[in-house]
Order: sequence, then C-alpha cells, then structure tokens
Amino acid sequence: MTGPAPTSWAVDPDAAGARLVVPGVWRLRLPLAWPGVDHVNAYAIERDDGIMLVDTGSAGHPTCLAALETALAQAGYGVPDVRVVAATHGHSDHVGLAAHLVRHAGAEVWAHPATDASFFDIVREPDRFHAARERRARREGVPEERLFAVATAEEEVQATLAPVAVDHVLVDGVRLPSALGDWEVVETPGHAASHVCLVQREHRLVCAGDLVCFAFSPWLDYGFSADPTTEILASLDRIQALGPMAWALPGHGRPLPDLGAVIDEHRQQFARRIEEVRDAVTDVPTGAYALTTHLCPDVPDRWLAGQFSEVLAHLAHLRHRGEVVREEAADGSYGYRSAAEGGPPAP
Ligand SMILES: [Zn+2]
Ligand SMILES: [Zn+2]
Repeated sequence: MTGPAPTSWAVDPDAAGARLVVPGVWRLRLPLAWPGVDHVNAYAIERDDGIMLVDTGSAGHPTCLAALETALAQAGYGVPDVRVVAATHGHSDHVGLAAHLVRHAGAEVWAHPATDASFFDIVREPDRFHAARERRARREGVPEERLFAVATAEEEVQATLAPVAVDHVLVDGVRLPSALGDWEVVETPGHAASHVCLVQREHRLVCAGDLVCFAFSPWLDYGFSADPTTEILASLDRIQALGPMAWALPGHGRPLPDLGAVIDEHRQQFARRIEEVRDAVTDVPTGAYALTTHLCPDVPDRWLAGQFSEVLAHLAHLRHRGEVVREEAADGSYGYRSAAEGGPPAP
C-alpha cells in the first residue's frame, strides 16, 4: 500500500474476532483504520507446537496489537503460541505486527525474497523512496500539489512496527507443515512483487492474500518489476489451474467457496481496465497523471497512489504489447500515445 496515512491508526479491539473455517484453521478478522477498508484477515493454522500465523494485521497504534490478541484469544491462543509468521506479501496490513511476534514469541518469519526490496526497505529508508517516487511522479506529470499523495511513505512507515529479518524464503514448492498437512508455496506476483499463495492440496484450501480481493483489486505495485499486469494475469491462471478449492482464504472479506468464479471476474475486470487505459491513450502524447484523472476524475488523495500505480502498470503492459508508445520530451517528462497501426512493437 502507498499513500497518505489515515488521521488516526486507532481501532476498536472489540471489533476483532475469530471464526473457525475448517478444523485447524481460524480466520482472524482484524479491524483496520483505513477509510473504506475496515478489516484485514490473518489466519491461525494449527501446528504440533503452536500455530502458524498467515499474515499479522497492521500496526500503527497499540489497539492494533490488542485487536490481534483479542482475535487470537477467541481462537484459544496467545502471542506466545505463534511459532511461524508466513507473509502472503509485504504490505503493512499483512506484515505490520510481525516484529512483535518475533520479539515476544520468537516466531520465525517466512516471506518471499522480494519482501525486503519492495517493502521493508521502504520502512528502512522512507526518504529515499519518497524522493524516488517524487522524481517518477514529476516525469509522469503529477502536479506539485499532489506529489505528496503519490510519493509519501508515511503509510508504510507508520503501519509497520519495524522491518523484520526473513528467516526462510517462500518460493515455489517450499512447504510449511501444519496439523492439516503441508501448505505449498505458489508465487503469485502482481498485486505486490512479493506475493505468494499457500495451498493445502489434500483439504483443497488456499491462503490467497490479496490476489483475489474486491477491496484491493485492481491494485498493482508499480516500480518493482517490468510488467505487473502480465504478472497478475499469470498469477490468476496459476491458481485457477490448481483446480477447484473447498475454500479460498482471502486477505480481506469472507472465505470464498467458488474461487474459480471470483478469478474469472477479476480477469474480466482487468481486461476492462486495460481496455479503458488503451482507449484513453490518443495520438497526442499524454502523461500518466492526466490519463489517471481522465479515467477517475474525482479520485481523492487517499486513493490516488493506487489508481496512478494501476494506470502506470497497464501503460507498461500496453507498451510491451506494442499498442502504446512512450515518448520523452526535452524536459524529461513522459507522454504516451497510440502506436501506429501495424507499426513495430515498442522497445
Ligand atoms: Zn496488499
Ligand atoms: Zn491487504
């Protein structure tokens, strides 16, 4: 996530709760302070020696940890039971409290290798990332008065207790043991470069993170890979190819009994949005910010970074497809125009 922080990170711990999904797997519903997205899910999965916690919820205020403790207690656990923290991806609502679990439970952290470069480094060096995002935003035509909204790292910094060292990497084929059997890692980049799903094949369960999520789709972290749009479409294909699941366990919202249908909807949504961006591009070179506000005229500062990032991702995708050309003006700013009919693909 990127963008301005909410005015307060305080949440109501009594709004937290735990629901058993299947024996051995609890959904922990944790309140969030973000306007428009009122909760994130973590999953407590039984092991012989305690639990594996898939995602942790956000930090930002002591009530966020109190909410996690409330939800864990409803499932019959406490912080000291957390043996493993497995991150579906590096966003503050998914790894914000990891440092507390390392410090107070000695939990091992399992995460994708890209989690450091695409998330914890932002928390470590917010000024560097802010400056880099600001430079990019200027080239894409963002006006001075909105630079802060797309460049600030305050959300990542405030909602993360501290960066944590990754003890074990989550890459394709790695297995995480649990009382139900092993959970297998499937890399699913796009929403974030560090995104993975965890699949329990025997029980047909998948911890889906933000791969499928109506609150956050489309949201594509731009700047950590060449073409996040192609990546997320391939990630949806990978998970759908595993066949029907009994339950998909998303990062936000209720468990999904029909993952295939949700993936189809997401794919259609992406196709529609890519088409909209392509239709907005004309023969006159236009900056990505102007295209963003043309497509979403009233987007508030809170959501500008997400919309802007998505448009940048789709523009990169359309350039790779040879349908859009990016031109650089004398002042270093970028403009996007339609590729000539039948012309060679863009470099
Ligand atoms: Zn996310
Ligand atoms: Zn999320």
